[in-house]
Amino acid sequence: MISINFEYHRPHSISEALEMFGELHAKGKEPIFYNGGTEIITMMRIHSLYTEARAVIDIKTIPECTYTGFQGDRLVIGSSIPLAQLQEMPEFPLLGKTCSRIADHTSREKITIGGNICGTIKYKEAVLPLLLTDCDLVIAGDNGINEIPIQQVFDKHMLLAPGSFVVQVLVKKQFLDLPYVSKKMTRIDRIGYPLLTVSALKTGEQARFAFSGLCDFPFRSNSVEDALNNQDWSVQERITNAISQLPAPLLGDAEGSAAYREFVLRNVLEESIAELKGG
Ligand SMILES: Cc1cc2nc3c(=O)[nH]c(=O)nc-3n(C[C@H](O)[C@H](O)[C@H](O)COP(=O)(O)OP(=O)(O)OC[C@H]3O[C@@H](n4cnc5c(N)ncnc54)[C@H](O)[C@@H]3O)c2cc1C
Repeated sequence: MISINFEYHRPHSISEALEMFGELHAKGKEPIFYNGGTEIITMMRIHSLYTEARAVIDIKTIPECTYTGFQGDRLVIGSSIPLAQLQEMPEFPLLGKTCSRIADHTSREKITIGGNICGTIKYKEAVLPLLLTDCDLVIAGDNGINEIPIQQVFDKHMLLAPGSFVVQVLVKKQFLDLPYVSKKMTRIDRIGYPLLTVSALKTGEQARFAFSGLCDFPFRSNSVEDALNNQDWSVQERITNAISQLPAPLLGDAEGSAAYREFVLRNVLEESIAELKGG
């Protein structure tokens, strides 16, 4: 049960959503965009964060947000597409595999790709394939509707101006069927928050790597990749050097200590490098 009152709005176009946001904001309502609702409803139930929001704008009825398909040389994924649908989408197997390990199937029917990458929970595992493929995000806001490289708007978390929302993800075809690995390690069960998740993609002789659960935020790092691709070193030396280049300390929390994470990371990286070499 949700014990607070809030307004629910359902715009049918991007411009209507932006106008609604402006009007509600002017009335002091502190509106937020609503997608799968899993995080928003949880936060409302526990009376944190969203209790003062008073108004939600559901973007799932905006056609661009529910579109998937090819346009020119890019795959377009609407931000309201649920993870369960992405899991079944053969066009982008790395994204499908990564999404298939987020939450349980019932939750994946609700959780959207937009909500996963824009939400407050630190894992945001669906962002890893997007970082690896240099995707563009279509973002609607006060400055209109713009395509922006993900590296410009994702640094530890999404950097969106107030009143902006992610409409679509655009991925170039050339990245969709490259050899990849996606490995999620959890503390006990198959379903759960990650001890660590590693996604990697082989582009020519180089491999790209992105991580969730390892530090306090998901990331892809040039220095980590440089170390892991350095052919002058043994695989073990590459991994040791990559660990010394991590952008933040290894997490130690309920999922596992920092030392245990490092132990698992070494094994997962060794396996991933071997698999990509054969791929
Ligand atoms: C049981 C369960 C287990 C989970 N396990 C994991 C896990 O292991 N790993 C993991 O990464 N995640 C996991 N999640 C998912 C995560 O915790 C969030 O619940 C989920 O990602 C939110 O997605 P949503 O579509 O429901 O977003 P909403 O609840 O609709 O929105 C979440 C936030 O994102 C904003 N937002 C949503 N869409 C957009 C958009 N298009 N543009 C701008 N802002 C937007 C909203 O304003 C809100 O602030 C789990 C969730 C559940 C319920």
